[in-house]
Amino acid sequence: DGITLEQVREYVWEVPQEGDMRVPARVLASEALLEEISEDKTLEQITNTTHLPGITNYAICMPDGHQGYGFPVGGVGALDAENGCISPGAVGYDINCGVRMMRTNLTYDELQGREEELVDSLFANVPSGLGGGGIVESGVDTVDEILERGVDWALEHGHAVEEDLLHCEDEGMREGADADKISQKAKDRGKNQIGSLGSGNHFLEVQRVTDVFDDEVGEAFGLEEDQIVVLIHCGSRGLGHQTCNDYLRKIEQQHQGLLNQLPDKELAAAPAGSQLAEDYYAAMNAAINFAWVNRQLIMHRTRQVFERVFDRSWEDMEMELLYDVAHNIAKKETHTVEGKERELYVHRKGATRAFPAGHPEVPKAYRDVGQPVIIPGSMGAGNYVLRGGENSMDLTFGSTAHGAGRLMSRTQAKDEYWGGDVQQELEEQDQIYVKAQSGATVAEEAPGVYKDVDEVVRVSDELGIGDKVARTFPVCNIKG
Ligand code: 5GP
Ligand code: MN
Ligand code: MN
Repeated sequence: DGITLEQVREYVWEVPQEGDMRVPARVLASEALLEEISEDKTLEQITNTTHLPGITNYAICMPDGHQGYGFPVGGVGALDAENGCISPGAVGYDINCGVRMMRTNLTYDELQGREEELVDSLFANVPSGLGGGGIVESGVDTVDEILERGVDWALEHGHAVEEDLLHCEDEGMREGADADKISQKAKDRGKNQIGSLGSGNHFLEVQRVTDVFDDEVGEAFGLEEDQIVVLIHCGSRGLGHQTCNDYLRKIEQQHQGLLNQLPDKELAAAPAGSQLAEDYYAAMNAAINFAWVNRQLIMHRTRQVFERVFDRSWEDMEMELLYDVAHNIAKKETHTVEGKERELYVHRKGATRAFPAGHPEVPKAYRDVGQPVIIPGSMGAGNYVLRGGENSMDLTFGSTAHGAGRLMSRTQAKDEYWGGDVQQELEEQDQIYVKAQSGATVAEEAPGVYKDVDEVVRVSDELGIGDKVARTFPVCNIKG
């Protein structure tokens, strides 16, 4: 509604600063993507974000951006960690929703003919759907340990190997996590969901590598054409959702003053330095650890399923974690702003960290080429592995897109598609085997509800924030 954008240069659009905006808002998109982004409330939401205290440089909307709770999905906001604030809505309800990719040394040839057996076995062994039940059934004591130790807990209990930790952001354990800052209700929701996909947009997908665009980086990532890989997308389940809710309520009770200054209540934020900001950060870090353990348990279970289906050990199939990236988080990071180092809460909601070559936080194995970035498309489209681009620190606080991004609401999708038809078409036309707990989920997640992932990734690559390394295509997919 009346938001005018100025083009800064190719793929960079700006809502100029005016009124109570503290900085301009930026949208990174091609004209085609911008048209889609302009159809819902995304532009209004990214503009509202510029009102948050301590926001630095710009509020940024990625090429896959779409409307979310307060802050758009595909949004990046860097808020000063001393004088700014931290905002649960700018992290997202599903704290540390993210993706991890596991390599194998199997080829598509070796898998063909066994897709149904594999998809059935994955579906039977990896918990999914709305109901309870995870890979580990436990009490709250176990939840507390997981919240504070992350994947280190999984290692101790035989659900991980050392290398898994090295190939995860923060090595699978976020510092400063405090289980006491997570409510009993959140723990109760989480305790029987440890190692479960959940429903809707979350999935486990077996894929084949169709293209390697950069041989040198492809080699560093261990990716080759025709290779089978596994992609896992899920987050912190009910525990993260409850935590987001709990802290939004507390902010409403304790920081009305700041809330009243904001154009949208959904942007509720705790002022940096307040007890509540510290508490939320410690709780969020704990929920982040929970999500990492969740993805780890699912990945390790997947290894066991492959062992049974292919009658070989997972080590023999070289089923190694390529990388795990979070796409709903905030993190205190040091960035150079106008020549000065500043501590910022970098909020990435539906956005992926994309640190370039040489950055000390990129794991050793990838430090010379940049961190792997994983961008899913849809159950009927391509997916990409990128590497953090040279321009990401200057343009996006070291971030890029996280997916294709939704084009249509879930309600619209259910009017448009029928799950059974979608499933049949995928199988007959593309040899993609989908198995879901509910047909409605398949309709809500039909390939047509998402934007063109090739276009999203093209923009990231052209801007040099995340460079194309490889493309994959689905073979088997399970979801809730
Ligand atoms: P989000 O975390 O925002 O729900 O979704 C991440 C991205 O995953 C979406 O933007 C979409 O591009 C992608 N996606 C959703 N469902 C599927 C699926 O079943 N398979 C694949 N490969 N990608 C999906
Ligand atoms: Mn997600
Ligand atoms: Mn999620």
